Amino acid sequence: AQVVTAYDTIAAISTPPGEGAISIVRLSGETALDVANAVFKGKDLSQVPSHTINYGHIIDPQTDETLDEVMVSVMRAPKTFTREDVIEINCHGGIVATNRILQLLLGSGARLAEPGEFTKRAFLNGRIDLTQAESVMDLIRAKTDRAMQVAVNQLDGNLQHLIQNLRQEILEVLAQVEVNIDYPEYDTDQMTTQMLLEKAELVKKSVAQLLQTAGQGKVLREGLATAIVGRPNVGKSSLLNHMLHEDKAIVTDVAGTTRDVLEEYVNVRGVPLKLVDTAGIHDTEDKVEKIGVERSRQAITKADLILLVLDQSQPLTAEDRQLLAATADKKRIVILNKQDLPAQLDEGELLQLVTPAEVLPTSVLTSAGMDDLDNRIADLFFGGIENSQSTVMVSNSRQIGLLRQAQASLDAVIDGINAGMPVDLVQIDMTAAWDQLGEITGEAAPDELITQLFSQFCLGK
Ligand code: GDP
Ligand code: ZN
Repeated sequence: AQVVTAYDTIAAISTPPGEGAISIVRLSGETALDVANAVFKGKDLSQVPSHTINYGHIIDPQTDETLDEVMVSVMRAPKTFTREDVIEINCHGGIVATNRILQLLLGSGARLAEPGEFTKRAFLNGRIDLTQAESVMDLIRAKTDRAMQVAVNQLDGNLQHLIQNLRQEILEVLAQVEVNIDYPEYDTDQMTTQMLLEKAELVKKSVAQLLQTAGQGKVLREGLATAIVGRPNVGKSSLLNHMLHEDKAIVTDVAGTTRDVLEEYVNVRGVPLKLVDTAGIHDTEDKVEKIGVERSRQAITKADLILLVLDQSQPLTAEDRQLLAATADKKRIVILNKQDLPAQLDEGELLQLVTPAEVLPTSVLTSAGMDDLDNRIADLFFGGIENSQSTVMVSNSRQIGLLRQAQASLDAVIDGINAGMPVDLVQIDMTAAWDQLGEITGEAAPDELITQLFSQFCLGK
């Protein structure tokens, strides 16, 4: 266990801003109990047992005025989120009342917490590692159950343990190399390099496996950028509407009646789709043809997945062909809409432009094919790893970047040995890999990084 450093006492409102039935003001630090006691009328909080909830009132110590009726949770160090004394004041919502309580606490010896400072203390006091701190942030922002599962998994420390094991492997071999270097009389070079090579390959394999999950992890975290494209009147807005499950987009035959919605999220079987440029869906109906086409080109470039809608009750048009060509290199689903109407589209011609696997017949009007669409999207992203809940995933760019660096360092070790480089040079790359992995968990992270990382948190976390 680590020694817990004594920090000053911080305070913040931990519930989201706005009206609510209850708001929580949180305190953490050495003098948290004293600060709370100074504004609390009820039991003496310094005498109550740890992890109890205590009824009472918040009073202004200057004026004796009663501000609110509250429940105060007392949690003494070290079994708390920050490993410090933590007080949570449950008060009666309302921005004004909650802010006044916070002001009283600040006037009684607490300091306003910086964004993420509670979680930062949990990290500094050794309760969680960086991957767990990041998962706290992911949990707050999780858009689907699946994304949440990955975050919870990470909060449990699964990624941390995996990385720690890899570092241990590297450390062992580095220690062995040191010993061998110290006893040059035993001509152990051959053995040492062989050992280094085997370890580098072993660790590299695990790093590569982790990196394989990065694509899915990132999608779960940030959403899969998806563009619905197609010429006017094929059913794009109807499809968008269907996906949003409520009337957030306007369906109409009259062009131009749009709302300026730029981004919407939908949850498709656990895959968060970030629908890009939904405002552009109607812009293609503009009189000025050029803007429409250009706009869809932009949307196509930005998107990871294209839903290209065609109207099968009409022959293919030049614009359809243009869009088919523009999306040919993309991950796409070609939606053959309006199946409820007689077919006019020449399937033979279409199948020269797309693979059968890309095509999906639908009728947004009758909802035919809508479940298939969801399945298709989920399959595209969970195809290989159906039980993604149980695998350890890396999801954020920081972790992915460091894994890539570690992979490059391990490659340098392997290449170096194969090229017959001296052991002490190879050792440098192996140490670099060790450092890069350590930066993922925070064991070897520079201070600026830690400061920057926690500043992304919302206030009160
Ligand atoms: P957009 O211009 O591509 O956004 O197309 P809209 O979603 O605005 O739809 C254009 C027209 O086609 C509207 O009248 C819709 O009700 C209609 N529509 C959309 N999907 C279908 C479908 O599957 N079958 C039929 N028969 N009509 C549809
Ligand atoms: Zn439309």
